[in-house]
Amino acid sequence: MSKIKMSTPLVEMDGDEMTRILWEMIKEELLLPFIDLRSVYFDLGLKARDETNDQITIHAAEMTLELGVAVKCATITANAERMDEYKLKQMWKSPNATIRAILDGTVFRAPISLACLEPMVRCWQKPITIARHAYGDVYKNTEFTVDRAGKAELVFTAADGSGEKRETIHEFTAAGILQGIHNTEKSIASFAKACFEYALSTRQDLWFATKDTISMKYDAFFKEIFADFYQREYKEKFADVGITYFYTLIDDAVARVMRDKGGFIWACKNYDGDVMSDMISAAYGSLAMMTSVLVSPSGAFEYEAAHGTVQRHYYQHLKGAETSTNSVATIFAWTGALRKRGELDGLTELVNFADEIEAAVLATIMAGKMTKDLALITTLTDVEVLNSRGFIIAVRETYERGRR
Ligand code: NAP
Ligand code: MG
Repeated sequence: MSKIKMSTPLVEMDGDEMTRILWEMIKEELLLPFIDLRSVYFDLGLKARDETNDQITIHAAEMTLELGVAVKCATITANAERMDEYKLKQMWKSPNATIRAILDGTVFRAPISLACLEPMVRCWQKPITIARHAYGDVYKNTEFTVDRAGKAELVFTAADGSGEKRETIHEFTAAGILQGIHNTEKSIASFAKACFEYALSTRQDLWFATKDTISMKYDAFFKEIFADFYQREYKEKFADVGITYFYTLIDDAVARVMRDKGGFIWACKNYDGDVMSDMISAAYGSLAMMTSVLVSPSGAFEYEAAHGTVQRHYYQHLKGAETSTNSVATIFAWTGALRKRGELDGLTELVNFADEIEAAVLATIMAGKMTKDLALITTLTDVEVLNSRGFIIAVRETYERGRR
């Protein structure tokens, strides 16, 4: 059979450790035999980032804005240990933070759900996607402790010299603590737009929640921006595809999530998203089954697995020991990117290929062939535990059987 053609290349961002090993295997076994893969390759492995003074990360992000679709392998975020291990010139910023800042994007995280991996929450029949606003609030706070009596005030001084606004926060009579937080209209609007766009493109309902009954200016500001976008730009588009926008209080949202059947996007403020995304991934059983896509308001998409570089397995691999590392989320990062490329370029064959590879992954696991992490949590009783390459080859066999 002839290979499937691509027209526009993908931005391909290679990474580190065990996921870099899986990356190569996925290309070799699942992609290159079947498609004429066109990609602009960037090595975001820590060594290459250090050699280029991290310019490679910036170039990869800029190319993503230009071409529209990227696929990224997990990468090491440098810390003190990594400085020694890789003899780094500098403690480079997290590549994900650099890319997110350039794309100005919102991250959507969704579990890959399967009948043989039952979520802890019994009523969840479909995946719940979390969209986390990744700017400001407590993550860019100013705070200090107060060790004596005194007055704390919130002061805003206009840049144009037009005046000052001042309000008392608290009259301290003894020791205490203080914190100042902020957000910007631009960032909240980008977040809202990315959420509405992603809901439309995946045809799922959108939920958003804050605590605007208590925070009547701060949280209400978020609520109003979302409501405005909906009224002005999305009400009709949502109605056309039969999806809804739903706003409620954060505590009510949490209670409803626990009783719902799933299948929607849950837009969260920064802190809520941090907390709730961990709850959702734990409830679905495995970080190795969680996908992640960064969507920019300008319409660029970057797909990746939600997990890290699986360092422990990599060191086993280096010692020559066999590994059973789950490649599902990394395979889905590739299929997500290829499907999006196919949709944008009108290449039905490429879209179908992505669908068929994903179906082959799921069918392989449902047939009892899986990596060790899944074998520990599946409800199937007859299970064959495969090594890292063995699983990818089993997926290839399932896919090839389907093509015949
Ligand atoms: P991790 O790579 O997510 O792995 C943590 C543990 O989770 C593993 O040791 C393994 O448990 C399990 N696990 C995760 N993914 C798995 C998979 N695909 N298959 C099987 N088991 C899997 O987190 P980490 O070890 O804390 O971080 C390693 C590096 O990744 C760090 O340098 C960090 O900076 C980086 N990181 C990158 C990203 C990213 O690029 N998006 C995200 C997070 C972390 P067992 O050991 O019990 O088998
Ligand atoms: Mg968290």
